Parts: sequence; C-alpha cells; structure tokens
Amino acid sequence: MNTIPPVDLVRQHRPISEAIETAVLEVLRSGRYIGGQTVDDFEKQFSQFVGTKYCIGCNSGTDALLLALRALNIGPGDEVITTPFTFIATAETITLTGAKPVFIDIDRNTFNFDLNLLEAAITPRTKAIIPVHLFGQPVNMSRLMQIAHHHDLYVIEDCAQATGAMWDGEKVGNIGHIGCFSFFPTKNLGTCGDGGVVTTNDPAIADVVRTIKEHGSRQRYYHDLVGINSRLDTIHAAILQIKLSYLDEWNQRRREIAQHYHNLLEPILGIQLPQEIPGGYHVWNQYTILIEDSFNGAENKRDHLKQKLQEHSIISMIYYPIPLHLQKVYQNLGYQIGSFPITEKAAHEVLSLPMFPDLTFEEQQQVAYGLKDCIV
Ligand SMILES: *Cc1c(COP(=O)(O)O)cnc(C)c1O
Repeated sequence: MNTIPPVDLVRQHRPISEAIETAVLEVLRSGRYIGGQTVDDFEKQFSQFVGTKYCIGCNSGTDALLLALRALNIGPGDEVITTPFTFIATAETITLTGAKPVFIDIDRNTFNFDLNLLEAAITPRTKAIIPVHLFGQPVNMSRLMQIAHHHDLYVIEDCAQATGAMWDGEKVGNIGHIGCFSFFPTKNLGTCGDGGVVTTNDPAIADVVRTIKEHGSRQRYYHDLVGINSRLDTIHAAILQIKLSYLDEWNQRRREIAQHYHNLLEPILGIQLPQEIPGGYHVWNQYTILIEDSFNGAENKRDHLKQKLQEHSIISMIYYPIPLHLQKVYQNLGYQIGSFPITEKAAHEVLSLPMFPDLTFEEQQQVAYGLKDCIV
C-alpha cells in the first residue's frame, strides 16, 4: 500500500509545473529580484481576492502579524487577547512588541476561541484582539466585531490557515482592521518558500505597515520609524500569481474532501468530526478529528491510534500537542495546567488526517478503513 502523506506538494506542483517554471525563469532572467511590477501586480490581485483596498507583501505570516501589531502601536504595557490553541507565531509576535498575550479558552466544536469568554478577559490595558481562523474555520466575526467596537479595540485577523475562508459572505482578512496571511508551502495558498501579506482598508495603517517593512522609510535613505526588512520576493510573487488563479478550485476540492470524510467517518464510534459552523465558509487547511476521552491514565488513545495508522501507511499529524500557555517560553505569564481545560483536553485528543486538494477518494477510503481498524 502506498503511504498517504498529510500533504503532498509534489502532486500540487505537477500539473502547474510548466507555468511556474516559466514564470520563475522569467524573473531569473529579468535581473529584477526585489519588488517591481510582479510584486505590485500580485498585491493588487490578492487585495481584489480578499476585497480590501490595500495589500502589502512581506516575508512571512509571522512578519505580517508583527507588522500589524507594530502599525497599531502596540507595545509594552498593552495586552492582546488571543487563543492558546494556535501556532506559536500568533503569540510570539505579541511578545516581540513588548505587549502581553492574554489567552482565553477555546470552543471544542470549532477549535477557535470561545467568544463567550472574551469580554471577561478585556481590561483597561487591552489594545487588540487576534482571532485565529484555525484549520480554515472562520471565527464568528459579526459577534467578534460587535464586542470589539463596543470596547474600542482593534482586531487583527490571523488568516494564515484560512486564505479564501468567509464569514457571512465576507472574506476573512477583510472584516477586522487588519488581516495577516501566510504563504508557507502547506497553507491553502502557498509559495515555494516563505511569504506573507498584510491586508487592510485603512490607508493610514497601510502606509505605516509599508513603511515599517521597508526599514521605516517612505523615501529612500530617510527613516521615519524603527523598521525591519521584510519583503515578498519577486520570485514568490510570480509563483503566487499563478497559484492564486487555482485557489478557489483547490478550496472547493478541500470542501468536497471534508464532506467525503464526514460521510465515511460518521459511523465510527469514539471520534468527534469537525463541522462547518453556520455562517462560515470553511476552507479546511486541516481536517482535525477528536479521539474522545483519549487521556485517562497513562495511555493516550490518540497517540496510540496515530502510531497504528502509521503502520497502515497513513500519516496523521497533531496540531497542536502543547497549548501556548503551557509552553516553556510562556511560564512567566502565570498560567498553569488547568487554566484552559477545553484547550488542554483538545491537545490530547486532536488528530489531523491527510488533507490536500489532490487527495483521492480511494485514499480517503483507505484512511477510513484504517481508522475503523485501529480505533479501540
Ligand atoms: C503558519 C502560521 C503562522 C505563521 O506563518 P509563517 O508564514 O510560517 O511565518 C501564523 N499563524 C498561524 C495560525 C499559522 O498557521
């Protein structure tokens, strides 16, 4: 039996290889490797895709978050509320500004932070909220924006796993004050390396983001702010232009695959399947199931299952095994085991199954048989 990988970038590249290789060669031969028309064009195309007035390319999703926070002047003494169940970059960038990440627990049905807990976490020091559209599932942005407006807080959307996702017909990245996207290869829109963008409808924010990412400079050799060097390289912009034209189709495929998984796995007892929440358009960067009651005693059922699936040539992944509030780097924040019980339970029970647009129905059947066989 062939191994079923969690994601297969070779399969994604194969049908578009000629177009990508031509575009990359063109950049190589042009001698123009930083900026230029190709980057400007991609920024324009991506802002049209999301629906925002502005889009600023940068080096990564992590830089996009850092630039967003810096543009809002967030720093020492400020608090930013986010989820403990996310990739480290979401909180790390808050810490890098000197501000303090404040976590709230998640909702087990969406893996996103629980909006019922949001208002209680707001203090006079709170400056912003970072919703993470985890695994491609949008946060309930209507409710979030209502709370944010009421408390006069900024909202920075972490859209790294959710390019193309929508809430109430509106693309993520076009609902909060700022959107941050990653083009890491395994994201829904990924380049052949690192890349990211910041989106916004606010001209002042767009200006400051662009200035900070260019060494704080609006005019070459005149520096107004303390900046960094963060660029979306021309080669990546050329690759992304091509891939962007396939994104809707790829996301549609992910949705079909999620539906197939749902039909195949529904009869299996002991697992909870992910669901798209009403009002949301989920783009399934991950298809993440919960192996119920995994952690009772010494044995973790989920870990055992993952191992057995591997023996069946099915590679599954754990996103995320250790919530951020329990990471060594965040010991100083004062959280402990038990601070966020839903998150901690999810960390013991989550299992992400193979998910990528080129996954075949036969492979999905193999995953379903494997799961049925291995679950105890
Ligand atoms: C991938 C990711 C990031 C960081 O993006 P990079 O491009 O890898 O820097 C940030 N937040 C989340 C939720 C992510 O999944």
